[in-house]
Amino acid sequence: AASPPLLQVRDLHAYYGQSHVLHGINLDIHPGEVVSLIGRNGAGKTTTLKSIMGVLRSRTGQITFDGQDITRLPSNRIAARGMAWVPEERAILSTLSVRENLELPPARPGGWSAARTYEAFPVLRERGHHPGSKLSGGEQQMLAMVRVLRSGPRLLLLDEPSEGLAPVIVQSIGRIIRELQQEGLSVLLVEQNLNFATRLADRHYVFVDGKIVDEVRRDEVESRRDELLKYLSV
Ligand code: ATP
Repeated sequence: AASPPLLQVRDLHAYYGQSHVLHGINLDIHPGEVVSLIGRNGAGKTTTLKSIMGVLRSRTGQITFDGQDITRLPSNRIAARGMAWVPEERAILSTLSVRENLELPPARPGGWSAARTYEAFPVLRERGHHPGSKLSGGEQQMLAMVRVLRSGPRLLLLDEPSEGLAPVIVQSIGRIIRELQQEGLSVLLVEQNLNFATRLADRHYVFVDGKIVDEVRRDEVESRRDELLKYLSV
């Protein structure tokens, strides 16, 4: 790719107290690329997203976003530069209605409007008056994604977006990820669902014990599927 990377992670180490969980992660994401992090539970994928977003501050190395060193910035300043994170637990405002969730905070210029939201996920209009806590897992995932898309990010960090969802909902989330990519957004995706990941991602980084041990491009997936399955199996 000729364009400089949108995100560059160099020699990232991360810690929870005394416990050293990431051991020198290096990765790049180019504009418009969808990249997945795959690996078993506990391999360090979520920790990598939290470190990039600045939610986990106990880390060393260098993180560059759009040419700027963001390693020392707090997560709100990183978000303001165009990075957005949808955590595995799908942060939504559970006591507020779906509509209120879609109005707070107001959309930024270039972010998803109400019209775009209801076109992509009509069910969110139908559920407008339901409190966030009463939504299904799939509806919560859609709402959590839209909430961050309202800020018009350039890089979207998604932690297991397909987890626990019905196949038809997984499909509509996959369709939206592809649309976002066509619009030039970059996506960094943590996944346990290899089919979902390989359908969407241009490249995969394989995590084992807090390290990246392999990198697989889309055109290598078919011939290396058994290896990939082995990396994921317990
Ligand atoms: P999962 O899919 O289960 O989230 P993962 O690959 O994302 O797996 P991480 O959640 O990044 O893995 O966890 C990496 C390591 O850090 C694991 O050994 C985990 O037990 C440990 N860990 C994660 N969160 C914490 C925490 N809050 N405090 C202490 N250790 C943690």
